[in-house]
Amino acid sequence: MKIAIVGAGIIGVTTAYELARDGHEVTIFEQRSAAAEEASFATAGLLGPHLLSPWAVPGFGQALRLIGPHATLRVAGGLNRANWAWLRRWRGAARSNSAPAAALERLAQYSLTRLKAIARQHELDFETSEGRLVLLRTEQERAHLQPALQVLRDSGVSLHEIDADVARQIEPGLSPEAPLAGAIHLPDASAGNCRLFAQLLRQGTQGSGVQFVFNTRVDRISTQPTGVALQGEPDLRRFDAVVLCAGMASATLMPALGLRLPMAAVYGYSVSAPLRESTHAPRASVVDAAQQISITRLGQRVRIAGGAELAGADAHHHTPTLQRLYRTLNDWFPGGAQLSSSLQIWRGARTMLPDGAPVVGASGVPGLWLNTGHGAGGWALACGSARVVADLVAQREPDVSLDGLGMRRF
Ligand SMILES: Cc1cc2nc3c(=O)[nH]c(=O)nc-3n(C[C@H](O)[C@H](O)[C@H](O)COP(=O)(O)OP(=O)(O)OC[C@H]3O[C@@H](n4cnc5c(N)ncnc54)[C@H](O)[C@@H]3O)c2cc1C
Repeated sequence: MKIAIVGAGIIGVTTAYELARDGHEVTIFEQRSAAAEEASFATAGLLGPHLLSPWAVPGFGQALRLIGPHATLRVAGGLNRANWAWLRRWRGAARSNSAPAAALERLAQYSLTRLKAIARQHELDFETSEGRLVLLRTEQERAHLQPALQVLRDSGVSLHEIDADVARQIEPGLSPEAPLAGAIHLPDASAGNCRLFAQLLRQGTQGSGVQFVFNTRVDRISTQPTGVALQGEPDLRRFDAVVLCAGMASATLMPALGLRLPMAAVYGYSVSAPLRESTHAPRASVVDAAQQISITRLGQRVRIAGGAELAGADAHHHTPTLQRLYRTLNDWFPGGAQLSSSLQIWRGARTMLPDGAPVVGASGVPGLWLNTGHGAGGWALACGSARVVADLVAQREPDVSLDGLGMRRF
């Protein structure tokens, strides 16, 4: 089949890879001049398991506080109606624990297996590390995480509840002064550089059935006939199928087709800093459960990521949030990174549906497939979501169940 993909973030690039592998002729349209320039640019780097990652799923980890000095979600510039509705639904899913957490975790595990197979096959080196600690400052935090731990155990994820001494053996750079009550150790967790992986995969797929068309904006998706209308081109480009992987822009392309998804852009930040003293830096990835901040070793850099805000795309960087990232790094790994120069400070949008899960599969409109709304887990879920879409396009039963991850739930 001739298939068009809209968007060359991590989701679009992996989808192109899997479709080309099945023998399709794939064209991927991207408005920016390179792959992974928007949400996939500087993620925290966390791969599966997914459930204990910051902002993974409502009700599993972070409390939703909107006001006061301990607000977990910052609201700036007023809330529009869509964001209010999204917030109500996120809160509802958190209270009732109704998010499809088990389905998401299954997809994350499948995705990790698939990613490792792709990386092995093509010898991709993307600054990976193995193992993760979820750091607990108090015993209360441990209690708070029990529902998530139960889902992880039920999903067959290997995890150990460990004390502070064992945690410090696993991550010897942890400050001896840091108030550490204990940790959750996820020995099989992985992390890696999302953008680097996307770029390496893009280089690998070029010439093998995938054509990348950069600096090209899709203005409209058509279904009768199936195709895409490009900015500045009078005629529709015809395809047999279109896969929408446009991140936050998916929400603006869908209404013309009679489709709507309750998406919100929940912005977050990452700071990437050169290593200063590797023995004082993390060996792999850690998550501060209370702060919902991660610290990840990516090659010769350390990346700190966190923060959640409902604010416009053009909002200024929020200095107190960035200071919280620096403070958290200093709490756990003082002296591990060089914060005085060569910093990369990034603000990106998590395209979030109110239950934290993406929409993967048929759109209900003939010829249009969806792979979008991956929220805080696009990197962790990309390779699995891509394989699932390719299987569905080929009318094959995917290897992993999609219960709770389809369009129909909306
Ligand atoms: C601070 C932060 C930390 C994060 N950490 C993690 C993490 O550790 N692990 C994890 O799994 N996830 C993480 N995420 C989430 C992750 O970044 C996203 O889920 C993922 O990048 C989404 O990928 P995507 O391909 O859907 O979107 P994008 O990367 O945004 O790609 C969409 C692409 O579509 C293009 N596009 C849009 N509209 C059009 C159009 N009309 N025509 C042509 N092109 C178009 C855009 O230019 C863009 O390149 C994090 C997010 C943030 C903000």
